[in-house]
Amino acid sequence: SIVSQTTLAELGRASNTRKIFEESNQRRQTHGSDVCDFSLGNSVVSPPQAFREALQQISLDPPSNVHSYLPTTGLPQLRENIAKCLTKWHNVEISKDCVLMACGASAAINIVLHTILPADSEVIIPTPCFGEYIRYVENMRCKVVLVPCLPNYELDVEAIRAAINDKTRVILLNNPNNPTGKVYSQKTLVDLSKVLMDVFEHRKETTPDNPSPVFLLSDEIYRLIHYDQSTPIFSTFAAYPYSFLVSSFAKDFALPGERIGYICISPALVDQCLIDALSSSTRVLGYVGCPSMMQHVLCKCLENGFDYAPVLAEYRKRRDRLHAILLDAGLQCPLPEAAVYLFPKVPEGVTDKEFADLLRAQNVFVVPGSSFLDPTSVRLAFCVDMDVIEKSAPKIKLATQQARA
Ligand code: PLP
Repeated sequence: SIVSQTTLAELGRASNTRKIFEESNQRRQTHGSDVCDFSLGNSVVSPPQAFREALQQISLDPPSNVHSYLPTTGLPQLRENIAKCLTKWHNVEISKDCVLMACGASAAINIVLHTILPADSEVIIPTPCFGEYIRYVENMRCKVVLVPCLPNYELDVEAIRAAINDKTRVILLNNPNNPTGKVYSQKTLVDLSKVLMDVFEHRKETTPDNPSPVFLLSDEIYRLIHYDQSTPIFSTFAAYPYSFLVSSFAKDFALPGERIGYICISPALVDQCLIDALSSSTRVLGYVGCPSMMQHVLCKCLENGFDYAPVLAEYRKRRDRLHAILLDAGLQCPLPEAAVYLFPKVPEGVTDKEFADLLRAQNVFVVPGSSFLDPTSVRLAFCVDMDVIEKSAPKIKLATQQARA
């Protein structure tokens, strides 16, 4: 076969999300607007006003290097502007040197993993999780260790402790979480930090020549899409010094196709060797940098902060309406604190795939929970037009009745 055995195996593990999205597009050709596609987090909500204004200004008066190769780490002023935002969001002083631009959060995760994972090491991933993580880690020839969360989707810190061994190098978290919308509590993150500090102390005693902490890699791509602002998202950096954060403007700013995101190194870890190594990984993996024009636009947009409230209000409206529809259909579904997904439990007596099939027969496209390593639920991305949400109500009710019949 032209395709290598390794890649064939990867294909087998690929998430169904894209396939479902493509199938729903096909279905649209025959069933038009009757199709309700909740498969992909491809937002119909508009980016913040400040972004659109900055885009217009950059196109009317482009800087001379608007289409050039930029430094691998990114446009210095943009890194500075992001560092200022992060300092505010995390309440921890973050400098420009901590921030490196990347082609979206996916690239950022791959760059960090490539930089810090020795061959054959292990990465703990709490589930449910974004399914692509598994493929990223395995692509680095490392082992994934899945640790299910508690029933309320908090991290199971004791189970994580039990899963750590000498080969454990990274814990890959997604906070807030896709698909559950969970925001991990301050207590959970502090408890996890204590466990990891104990592990590091133990390693210092047992391998004094080359002790390594377990690093936390926190994917915070949904940080701004947080509905209950009265309970802030606790900072990973404040909890644990040996951390990396990744994010992108795909979700917060509704720019998934623009491929722009970043890595932020914990201020306690940043040094020139690490920055050089991350830049080197950016090139080895073929990313080179991230799109130049977008960097200029976001640099301008973030100059004086921005008002995120209108975007959040749009998402909240959709979350609340679709949640009400799911409850009305008789499904059990926690109200997500953050992100753009609802993750209702599958009715008793059917599997996640069977329930997704029943919904698909009604032209409603959702992703089975097994794509997120949790087959007890299905995922609906609610960043769609309101009329799609409204139209789905009788269809979801019918499919749920059929599942129970
Ligand atoms: N991380 C999580 C948790 C996601 O849900 C997604 C996309 O849905 C990504 C990363 C990918 O982000 P990006 O498009 O910025 O690469």
